[in-house]
Order: sequence, then structure tokens, then C-alpha cells
Amino acid sequence: MHNETLHSNDSGSATPGSAFVPPRADTSRHAAGTLLDKYGRRITYIRLSITDRCDFRCHYCMSEDMTFLPRSEVLSLEECLEIVRAFAELGVHKVRITGGEPLVRKNALWLLRQIGQVPGIRELVLTTNGSQLERFAPDLRAAGVKRINVSLDTLDPLRFHEITRTGDIAKVLRGIDTAVAAGFSRVKLNTVMMRGVNDHEFPDLVRYAMDRGVDISFIEEMPLGDIGHGRTATYFSSDEALELLGRHFTLEASDESSGGPARYWRIPGSETRVGFISPHSHNFCDTCNRVRITAKGELYPCLGHNDAVQLLPLLRAHPDDRQPLTEAIRGVMGIKPKAHDFTTQMDAPRVVRFMSMTGG
Ligand code: SAM
Ligand code: SF4
Repeated sequence: MHNETLHSNDSGSATPGSAFVPPRADTSRHAAGTLLDKYGRRITYIRLSITDRCDFRCHYCMSEDMTFLPRSEVLSLEECLEIVRAFAELGVHKVRITGGEPLVRKNALWLLRQIGQVPGIRELVLTTNGSQLERFAPDLRAAGVKRINVSLDTLDPLRFHEITRTGDIAKVLRGIDTAVAAGFSRVKLNTVMMRGVNDHEFPDLVRYAMDRGVDISFIEEMPLGDIGHGRTATYFSSDEALELLGRHFTLEASDESSGGPARYWRIPGSETRVGFISPHSHNFCDTCNRVRITAKGELYPCLGHNDAVQLLPLLRAHPDDRQPLTEAIRGVMGIKPKAHDFTTQMDAPRVVRFMSMTGG
């Protein structure tokens, strides 16, 4: 592996925000075309953030004054594609494109079209804030994007503007309708739960999803990045949300899975599945099948840890040789931790990067 631009330490742990080269994994355990971590979990899914930039500034995700990366420190779209190809050769078959806001990246559609044609990639999905969907939804569908997640925390225009600091809900709602009409196999809403901010709207959000035949997942807020204010006061657990929604709807537990950490409930007579993503109250690490790549090319084996490997210097040092990249990816399997490390001490972020860096 090319070490010049990377730094490592002996213990295999990293100080917050640092990145390091892991000890070389025992690659003899890997059959060709598979990625197994040391706990026997098979990695088949990557989340790739294609930009750290966003047209919104959601207050649980970003601080008001964000400094974004200079262009030269961000993966080019060709480098993103090379990363996907390397993972696909190692048995990854699902790719989620995220950000920041992926659809503000120039030529994002080009990348999606290319990934849609990479041999082995069976599922190409996208997470977006919806602000550009009215314009892009039909082209995304044509590019091979199968499913789409749209973040929607409230139906109230003023509250939406408060949460996102810049967003226009009318545009997002039009975007959701365009996406539904474009015929994705699934559209899902993602709602971050915040006590005293949007908890009284949960039933209305479920009704909104039911009216459109889309799914909705409620997400416990995670302590990612120093956002300049505490999170403990607004923390709302999945169990409490389930209890709240159970007073309004008949909810039947379902063992369906979308391949992610959400647990699903069905409402009889409706297409809509109601999911809960509960990093605090129900740990989903045992079945984790994914790793994440930031817009800077950092490969994070776990959302809840600070350890990562820098892929960008490798890509730039060996533009015509995939081998060093493949080795680095295999090496990361040796440092994927058993479980994430979120504490209920929400006001002291354990993970120093923002969610917009790692992608949702
Ligand atoms: N901009 C796109 C969006 O908002 O959907 C994609 C990136 S965003 C970082 C991905 C998801 O992460 C969104 O659903 C967002 O609500 C969620 N998110 C951001 N910060 C979070 C946090 N601290 N805890 C839980 N979810 C968070
Ligand atoms: Fe942007 Fe998504 Fe973060 Fe909101 S949650 S600031 S839309 S990246």
C-alpha cells in the first residue's frame, strides 16, 4: 500500500478525526469476490457520499457556518466510479449514493448512469433531501436508480424552514410527487425524530406517506458532529414513537427488510411500511453488511467510529492500477469494529465528523 500520505499508529486505534492504515487483514480468509470482516459479516453494500455540500443546513446535521472541502480534496466522479468497480469485484452488489446533497453535485446523473452499468451492481439507490427531485426524478429512474429515500421531517412550511435553515418545502413536496410518478420500485421518507420539534406530526407524516403509497422510516437522532447545540433534550426513541403511532394506527410487526437496519411495521389495508431506525435503543451491528466512503475518499468501516482509510491518495498515486485500492479495501475488513459506539450522552459527540461527511 502507498503510505506516504497516510499516517498510522501502532495500536490500531486513531485519534478522533485522524485516519490510519490498518494492519493488513488476513486476506487468506477471503474467497475471491467476497469481503468478510473478522466477525464473519459479509460486506455487500456501500454508501458513497459524492459531495459534502448541500443546499440545506439541517440543524441536526450541519452547523450554520459550514466550511466545505476544496474541489481538489473531493473524489472526482471518475474516482467514485473506480471505487464502485473495485467494490463490485469484491462482491458488493448494492450502492447507495448520498451526500451532503448528492443531486447538487454537477453531473451526478452521469455517475449514476455509469454505476447502473457496473457488472455485479444489482441495486442502485439514492438518499436525497428532495430539493432537486422535480427536475431529476425521471432521469434518475432511467439511469437505473431503483429506490429513493427522501428526507422529510415535517409537513409544516415554517418548521421545515427552521429545521433546514434554507429549505422550501413546496419544492420538496413537488419533488416527492414527481418521484412517485416516475415509478421507482420504492420511495421512502426518512424522518429524524426530535422531541418538541416534530413529534406531534408523526401521525400526519404517516398519513401523508399512506396517501402516496410510500414507506416512511423514523430515525433516532445520532450524535454525529459538533452542531453547536445539545441533542439530549430532543432525543426521541423508536419505542416511544411506536407507542405514539400505535394510538393512531393498527401496526402489525413485519419481518420484511430492505437490507438495512430498519425494523418494519405494516398498516393493514395500506401499501405503506412504517420503519424505525434505532441506533441507540436497538443495536443493528450484528447484521451490518456495509461500509461508507466520504466525499473525501475516506473509507469508514463503521458509522459510529472514527477509524478510516484514505482512498484518495491511493487512487491518485495509482491511476491505472486497481490492485492497491483493492488491497486497501480488503485491509479495512480487519478493523471493522464489532459494534458502534454511540452513547446516550448526546451532547458530547463521540464521532467528530458531520453526517453530511459520511452520508446517511
Ligand atoms: N442530503 C440528503 C438527505 O438529507 O437525505 C442525504 C444526506 S443526509 C446526511 C442522509 C440522512 O441522514 C438524512 O435522512 C438525514 O435526515 C439523516 N441525518 C443527518 N444527520 C443526522 C443525525 N445526526 N442523526 C440521524 N440522522 C441524521
Ligand atoms: Fe443537507 Fe441532508 Fe444534512 Fe439536511 S440532512 S443538511 S439535507 S445533508
